[in-house]
Amino acid sequence: MRLCVIGAGYVGLVTATCFAEMGNQVMCVERDPFRLARLAKGQAPLYEPGLESMLQDQVAAGRLGFTASLAEGIDRADVIFIAVGTPSGEDGSADLSHVLEVAEELGAGLKRPCLVVDKSTVPVGTAERVADRIHSGLAARGLGFRVEVASNPEFLKEGSAIEDFMRPDRVVIGCESPEAAECLRRLYAPFLRNHDRLLVMGLRAAEFTKYAANAFLATKISFMNEMAGICARLEVDIEEVRRGVGSDKRIGTHFIYAGCGYGGSCFPKDVRALIRTAEQEGIEPGILRAVEARNALQKTLLYQSVREHFNGFLKGRVIALWGLAFKPGTDDLREAPSLVLLEALLQAGARVRAHDPVANAGVAARFPRAVETGQLRLDDSPYEVTDGADALVLVTEWKQFRQPNFERIRGLMRMPVIFDGRNLYEPEQLVESGFVYRGVGRPQRG
Ligand code: NAD
Repeated sequence: MRLCVIGAGYVGLVTATCFAEMGNQVMCVERDPFRLARLAKGQAPLYEPGLESMLQDQVAAGRLGFTASLAEGIDRADVIFIAVGTPSGEDGSADLSHVLEVAEELGAGLKRPCLVVDKSTVPVGTAERVADRIHSGLAARGLGFRVEVASNPEFLKEGSAIEDFMRPDRVVIGCESPEAAECLRRLYAPFLRNHDRLLVMGLRAAEFTKYAANAFLATKISFMNEMAGICARLEVDIEEVRRGVGSDKRIGTHFIYAGCGYGGSCFPKDVRALIRTAEQEGIEPGILRAVEARNALQKTLLYQSVREHFNGFLKGRVIALWGLAFKPGTDDLREAPSLVLLEALLQAGARVRAHDPVANAGVAARFPRAVETGQLRLDDSPYEVTDGADALVLVTEWKQFRQPNFERIRGLMRMPVIFDGRNLYEPEQLVESGFVYRGVGRPQRG
């Protein structure tokens, strides 16, 4: 099929590349000149494992192209995916300006019938609004053909986006006509060869499914973080509890890790948007509010723990941070817990030495003043940052941090104290190696 994907972000770029990989002809429209310039050189403008080489292969095969021109992108496309951002608006609702702008551009540019598919996460009713805008644009140009707008929310996870797209747990399609359902079923068939989990439902149900899924996952995390808080007081280790709880099939092992809070471009904004939707409908979203409040608190706990350890005096202390991205496998820093910690440490006068395998540059750009004065130093080596440190804080659980050389670290640090924001380490092992260990929801050790 001939496809157009509008927006070359984490979702759009992965979608475009994976569809091209299956033999489709894909044009990707991106308006950010920086991203476009990188793409023109065959480079992925964002970090996602496996993406860049796949993208280069598809460009070389002539199946994938990039353009700033919507007219060029949609020319001859059978299916057009909208994959632009839907950040939080001022009141917490999803800001649909990018999506609706694209709808207007489509109304002004479409020359023939095609299927438009919303892949961005959007509130219930958005597909109808997109269709209205497109049809007004067509009518203004004296064109009378109908364009169906379907919903196909995306469930990929940054850090394993290619794998998730290639082997989805399910594909959700919301549409009005059997033709649209059949078109998308054919497009997704190569990704669903081993199971047939293509769920066709009403437009509005598809839109809501994405919010409900993300809100539920965020709820699992906040629930466990609350349990961790109680455990810490009772001298109970949340990690033992997690294993005990997770072995129940009704609960499952995923997303029940206590930590320093969820971040990223999805959970925070989607929970906020769902709260706003509920409010607009006169429903009190008590659970969602609690999920959000718990997460906001959780993001401050690492700092509080470090501060307490140093009796409130952090000025001049050297604090090493491992991991800055909101999760392993990505360079995405949107709403990352590391930013809350960094802000507080810098404010308190600490000197921060930080390392992330791919997100150093993004953090440097967010704290230019601290980098300039040397209060914040970003380093390519995880060991380098521990040299002379008074404490090491593990914020993002990248794989390379799982089994570090603790002996070497102890030799480098001024004081061997580890704050484990993801409960990645075995407390006993660290205490035996001479460290003071502080986890999340675990009895104090050392
Ligand atoms: P992103 O910000 O990384 O990418 C959006 C891209 O769209 C940007 O590059 C921007 O320049 C481009 N864009 C905006 N308006 C445009 C226009 N008029 N023409 C051409 N390009 C335009 O966003 P993302 O993380 O890929 O998310 C996109 C959507 O997918 C959001 O609604 C998000 O909630 C949803 N989603 C994201 C993820 C994720 O893990 N990132 C997962 C599932 C769903």
